[in-house]
Amino acid sequence: MIINFRGNLKELLRFPFRGMQSVDHELTRQASVKDIVESFGVPHTEVGRLTVDGRDISFSSPGSNDDRVDVYPFRPPVDVLSPTLLRPEPLAGITFAVDVNVGKLASLLRMAGIDTYYRNYIADSNLVEVAVREGRIVLSRDTDLLKRKELVYGYLVREIYPEKQLAEVVHLFGLKEQLQPLSRCMRCNGMLQPVDKEQILDQLEPLTRKYYHVFRQCSECKHIYWPGSHLDRMLKVLDTL
Ligand SMILES: [Zn+2]
Repeated sequence: MIINFRGNLKELLRFPFRGMQSVDHELTRQASVKDIVESFGVPHTEVGRLTVDGRDISFSSPGSNDDRVDVYPFRPPVDVLSPTLLRPEPLAGITFAVDVNVGKLASLLRMAGIDTYYRNYIADSNLVEVAVREGRIVLSRDTDLLKRKELVYGYLVREIYPEKQLAEVVHLFGLKEQLQPLSRCMRCNGMLQPVDKEQILDQLEPLTRKYYHVFRQCSECKHIYWPGSHLDRMLKVLDTL
């Protein structure tokens, strides 16, 4: 079978196929197109569309040596809220579960107000379990994690710097209009609520007490936020998107 890896997918191919747009593959045993594609190094989470001789197929379709398979990446904005042939069960909303290898991205997503699950220490299997149970998209730089078969929605983060990763994810999922800075706690993902200064006076440092008047507090961990603490940095990052 001939497999064409479209767009940037060819950069994910394993050695010695990396960078090749087209590979000739001889099937020696029965396998699904999904397994064949993944055997070349491309996690199923990165595939936006699969066709055989121009006809759309699902992941479980069996491969055959006469096939010409085209593997397409996602085209932004990715719609995860509608069923597709590859992913018949859509998500209820766009929320994320973030792997430790992109931990700073988790803080930035929360800073932008996006519901993001993150734990410092968590096994791959547990992260995937949470994502599947809660209908979250896994963000990772680990291709092996994204190849796990129970995982439906995931994305291999390509950028290295956290701010660029945020821009990458916001662009891919078309989130720009949904960002709500200063609505969510960067530490625990809880929602922030306005809080009267009088109520938290004893928790403020003298200078903060003197110069700031508007505060928000996390409804979960009770951490306190004010414009000087994160807002400046947040607005700077979001400005660059
Ligand atoms: Zn919190």
